[in-house]
Amino acid sequence: MGLRSFFGILPPRVSYRGVSAPVEPVPIPEKIRLLWYKRTPSDLAVQIGKRVETGQDLARDGKGPFVSTVTGRVEDIGEFQGVDAREYLAITIITEQRDSFDPSLEAIEDFSETKPETLRAAVNRAGFTALSPIIRDPRVWPRVDALIISAMDLDPQSVANQQSFRDNTSEIGTAVELLARTTEALKCTLAVPDNLAGIATGVSMGAAAVVMVPPVYPYGLPEILAKKYGAGLLLHPHDTGFSGNTIVVGLDHALSMVHSLQGGKPMLEKTVTFSTGENGGFRNFRVRIGTPVSELLKMASVEPAAGGKLILNGTMRGYACFSDKQPVTATTESLHVQSPSEGFSFQDTQCTNCGKCNQVCPVDLEVNLLGRFSEYGIYDKSRTLGAENCIQCGLCAYVCPARRPLVQYITGAKQAIRSGLEEPVGMAEAMECDACGPSCPAIRLFDMGSDTEDSPKEKE
Ligand code: SF4
Ligand code: SF4
Repeated sequence: MGLRSFFGILPPRVSYRGVSAPVEPVPIPEKIRLLWYKRTPSDLAVQIGKRVETGQDLARDGKGPFVSTVTGRVEDIGEFQGVDAREYLAITIITEQRDSFDPSLEAIEDFSETKPETLRAAVNRAGFTALSPIIRDPRVWPRVDALIISAMDLDPQSVANQQSFRDNTSEIGTAVELLARTTEALKCTLAVPDNLAGIATGVSMGAAAVVMVPPVYPYGLPEILAKKYGAGLLLHPHDTGFSGNTIVVGLDHALSMVHSLQGGKPMLEKTVTFSTGENGGFRNFRVRIGTPVSELLKMASVEPAAGGKLILNGTMRGYACFSDKQPVTATTESLHVQSPSEGFSFQDTQCTNCGKCNQVCPVDLEVNLLGRFSEYGIYDKSRTLGAENCIQCGLCAYVCPARRPLVQYITGAKQAIRSGLEEPVGMAEAMECDACGPSCPAIRLFDMGSDTEDSPKEKE
């Protein structure tokens, strides 16, 4: 099945990079900054001047966990504006550049002998983010129809999950066992980019079925994986319970969970893909969470050129980073140093109604209208048009000839809607309807080439 051409417009083919970039450890920096969203200093159990240990929970009882990734002394507690323009509570720690581990985390050697709720509590306490949005109480857990562990990366500018797959095939079975038991999922799938099929052959993936995914953006996004290979929709918490039925966890994150739980350590590090210029120069750096991006630039011996930009989390869906003090967080996937010649400037020019954005949107949104309502802060209409269903893939902005910052407009509308800054109007309930069951028809899947070339192939 292919998309019909609309005035000769076809979806762009944006391929994931298939490059191998060995993981290089970055030393613990002299100073780190940990960010905590929607919190105030009164939520912390430590004050300026106090010594903290690696793995120590810095949150007051019932507020956390908020885990220190280093041993050192708290230098400052204040506010920090993240690249997403949101305000965070920031705690700055001068490190001892060696670890003294908090003893409260216990090693779990045999996952098969451990109760699921104990595993969930351990994963949560260790600071892992993949499950934390839906762990309020480890004993209260939604039914999970499908678990997907993904060796796909979230953006074409990242190769961290792909590298984890190349480097750690012998541990994937253990990661599957841990996640399957922790989530109690009814079915477990490992999503592997098609170009790594050779590595997958003959490797034990435990209880997971393996699917080969076309290495074409945005197939690696969790919403698309959930729709195509899971049970339909991602799990989210809401006021009265849970919606959705599928959990997607990146392979790098899953393997970190294995190492942390087996070692009785918290989530300390993140693999971040570093790239420069138009043709990459891809490297994977393993860094402590909280490390400023200036340390990555130093490690790579790169100074951004005048007129260039730092982009966090990829050119398709990331953010320009205006300060090299921005720390790596648990969700940082990549840092790209954009040269002036690569520069792409958004403009506030008028929409010409060419229709290209609507044609490429994998969620079938009326992006041209949605962009206009969101631009002018008419968020009730943005909600009516389904802004909350946008998966922030960036394809609309990628094809827009007027260079409109569509993703930024729509993301702003989503944040306003979630913060309750708008009043829903008539069609809002219809946009949130679940009449079709868990497999939402709104997310459509691109056919970027021939059926035989791009269709997902299942491996027994
Ligand atoms: S960023 Fe949102 S609106 Fe734009 S193409 Fe992707 S899903 Fe559609
Ligand atoms: S927002 Fe851009 S791509 Fe969409 S219809 Fe307008 S000009 Fe075309």
